[in-house]
Amino acid sequence: MEVLKNIDKVQNIVSKQLRDGKTIGFVPTMGYLHEGHIRLIKEARKENDFIILSIFVNPLQFGEGEDLDTYPRDEEHDRRMAEENGVDLIFLPSKETMYPGPLSIEMAVTKRTDVLCGRSRPGHFEGVVTVLTKLFNIIRPDRVYFGMKDAQQVAVVDALIHDYNFPIKLVAVPTVREKDGLAKSSRNVNLSTDERKEAPFIQQALLTGVQLMKDGKKLPEEIMDAVRKFLESKTHGNIDYIELLSYPELESVQTINQPVILAVAVYYKKVRLIDNIVFDQNGEIIKG
Ligand code: AMP
Repeated sequence: MEVLKNIDKVQNIVSKQLRDGKTIGFVPTMGYLHEGHIRLIKEARKENDFIILSIFVNPLQFGEGEDLDTYPRDEEHDRRMAEENGVDLIFLPSKETMYPGPLSIEMAVTKRTDVLCGRSRPGHFEGVVTVLTKLFNIIRPDRVYFGMKDAQQVAVVDALIHDYNFPIKLVAVPTVREKDGLAKSSRNVNLSTDERKEAPFIQQALLTGVQLMKDGKKLPEEIMDAVRKFLESKTHGNIDYIELLSYPELESVQTINQPVILAVAVYYKKVRLIDNIVFDQNGEIIKG
C-alpha cells in the first residue's frame, strides 16, 4: 500500500492504472477510520481492481464554531486499518496541497440543501462538493462509495455526478452500527460517558417513527412529533432537527406514499450526532 500526499504522484499512478485497463474504486473520508469506513472499503474491494482511500479533514465543509479543531485524527491507526482491508493507495493531502490559495471559482448547491444538515450547517455542502470535484478529477474513479449514515450527502453527490456528468457510479452503503444501535462515527469519541449512554436512543427514536408508520400513521407531522417526544424523554441532548422528507429529492411530503427519509440531528456538548432511516410507504427499510 502506498501513502501519498502529493497530487502529481497520485495522478501518475491513476494514469498507469487506467492505461492498464484497471477499474478504480474510491472511498473519500476524513479519517479516524472505524467499521463504517471499512464497510465502504470492503464494498469497493469487491467491485474494483484498484482501491484509493482519501483522508482529508476538509476545512471548507466546517462552519464557524464547528468541530474542525477537535475532529479526531490518528494517522498510524488509519494506515494500519486501510492496509489490513486491502486499500492500494491512501491519498493524504495537506490543506495547502488541496487549497494552495483562494479559489477563483466557487460552487453553489441549489437543491437538496435547504433542509436537514444543509439548513443547520450553511456552506457545508458547498465545501463537500468542492472537495469532491477536486478529488474526482485527481482520482478519476469508476465507482465512489458513500455511507447512508450521511444520506443527505449521498443525495447531494448524486446530483453533483448527474449535473456535472462525472462518469462515476455512486454506491451507497448501509449504516454500520454499534451493538446498541448507535451509528458508528469518528465523532463518537467526543461524547461524554453519560452522553454515550443516551446516544443509542437516537436510532430507537427513528425506529419508533417507522413503527408508527407501519401502524397506519401516514401524516409526517404526527410521526415527527412522536419521535421528538420520545427523544426528549430519553436524552438531554438538544434536538437540532427531526425531519421527514421524500428521498432522495428531500422535499416535504403531505403523506407517505413514496420512499422517505426520517432524519435526526442532536447536539451534545462537544459533538453533533446525526442518524436517519430511509423507508418506503409500507414501512420497509431501504438499505443503501
Ligand atoms: P467521514 O470520514 O465521516 O467523512 O465519512 C466518510 C464516509 O464514510 C462517508 O461516506 C460516510 O457516510 C461513511 N460513513 C461514516 N460513518 C458510517 C457508518 N456508521 N456506516 C457506514 N458508512 C459510514
